Amino acid sequence: MSHQTKVKTEAAEPVLQYTDARLRQVSAVVPETAFEGEKLRSWIERLNQSRKVYGGIGIAAPQIGILQRIVVIDIPAYERVGFGQVEAVPLHTLVNPEIIWYSEDKLKVAEGCLSVRGYEGFVVRPRRIRVVAFSPEGKRLEIEADSLYARCLQHEIDHLDGMLYPDRVTLLREIRKIQPVSVDDPILSHNHYIARPDVTLVL
Ligand SMILES: [Zn+2]
Repeated sequence: MSHQTKVKTEAAEPVLQYTDARLRQVSAVVPETAFEGEKLRSWIERLNQSRKVYGGIGIAAPQIGILQRIVVIDIPAYERVGFGQVEAVPLHTLVNPEIIWYSEDKLKVAEGCLSVRGYEGFVVRPRRIRVVAFSPEGKRLEIEADSLYARCLQHEIDHLDGMLYPDRVTLLREIRKIQPVSVDDPILSHNHYIARPDVTLVL
């Protein structure tokens, strides 16, 4: 998922697109020995660089071909159709995240994905979840997430299991093409059904 103020031209590894078989693999659990290590740090840096450059509020390591259970999230505060006013969730990395509880309450909203460029689809997911994960330093975290954060985490954790959001879309007509528009457009820039490469929301 994504939100950027400007498209950046900095170098970043490309995000794999949906036909790439690597996106369908189950990523490996990051071993305890990797915490605080140089390799993990470098994976996270590469991942976050691609997230920033391609404009994502979330990205999962397999999206750049690193088949490890790592996700990076950075949600700005803004208004989002389906969620209303979204609170910012500052940049952070979760290693080996696992959903341990889902609310029965569900929400159907449109999702996009950096690996399914040019489309969005309506997906039903639990509104709230509880997740256990580790920080890159190996600290155990327990997170209760709702709103867009819960949605984003579920989307990114799916990537770690080789799933993409279209797998969860039940009606094909609920996947549609989206067009880039100018961020300066007073009407279209507030219509989230239209992707903007510089301010779009791509999970
Ligand atoms: Zn995605």
